[in-house]
Amino acid sequence: MTFKDLGIIEPILKALAAEGYTKPTPIQEQSIPILLNGKDLLGCAQTGTGKTAAFSIPIIQQLVTDRDASQHQRKIRTLVVTPTRELAIQIGENFTSYARFTDIRSTVIFGGIKQGRQTDALKKGVDVLIATPGRLLDLMNQGFISLRDIKYAVLDEADQMLDMGFIHDIKKIIAKLPYNRQSLFFSATMPKAIVELSRKLLGDFEQVTI
Ligand code: AMP
Repeated sequence: MTFKDLGIIEPILKALAAEGYTKPTPIQEQSIPILLNGKDLLGCAQTGTGKTAAFSIPIIQQLVTDRDASQHQRKIRTLVVTPTRELAIQIGENFTSYARFTDIRSTVIFGGIKQGRQTDALKKGVDVLIATPGRLLDLMNQGFISLRDIKYAVLDEADQMLDMGFIHDIKKIIAKLPYNRQSLFFSATMPKAIVELSRKLLGDFEQVTI
C-alpha cells in the first residue's frame, strides 16, 4: 500500500516523498480512507504511530479540494486542539511540511507568551489553526478567533487534556463549533470520561485502534 493507492493528491505526495515517507503507517492506512470519505473518526493511538500525518494529510487534501470548488478566501476551516505547547508546535510543523506544495496555511497558538505575534498571524489569514485550549478561548473571547467556518475539528491527546484539567475548556470549545463539520478525536486511553467526551464531539463515527 502506498500513499498514492490511498488517493492522495500529487502536491501532498511530493511533500511526503521529500519527507522520506515511503509508505503509510498502519494508522494512516486505516484512517485516511475513512477521513477522505468525510466520516468522523475515533482514534485510539499513541504519539509515535504516525497519528499526526494520519489526520493532517486527509484534512489538507480536503481543504485543497474544497477551495478549488468554492474559490473562497482564507478562513479558519480547521481547528486542532492539543494539550501542550510542544505538541502544538510539532503538529504545526507537520501541517507546514505536508502542505508546502499547496496554498494551505496554518498557524499555532499557545499560552505562556505574549499574544501579539499570534494575533498578527491570525489577521493575515490561515486555513488551519492549531491551539492549546486556554489561549484559544482567550483569543476567542477577545474576538480574534471565530469558529464559525470550521469544517474539520480535531481533539488530540484527549486523555492528557483531561489529566491537565482542560475538560471545561474543551466542552466550551466544542459548544462553539458549527454543527456541519467532520470531527476527529484521538486518545491513547479510553476511560469512561473520555468516551463521554468523545460523544460530545463526534457524530456517526468509525473507530481505529492501533
Ligand atoms: P506522530 O505519531 O504523529 O508523532 O509521528 C511520529 C513520527 O513518525 C514523526 O516524526 C513523523 O514525521 C514520522 N512519520 C509519520 N508518518 C510516517 C511515514 N508514513 N513514514 C515515515 N515516517 C513517518
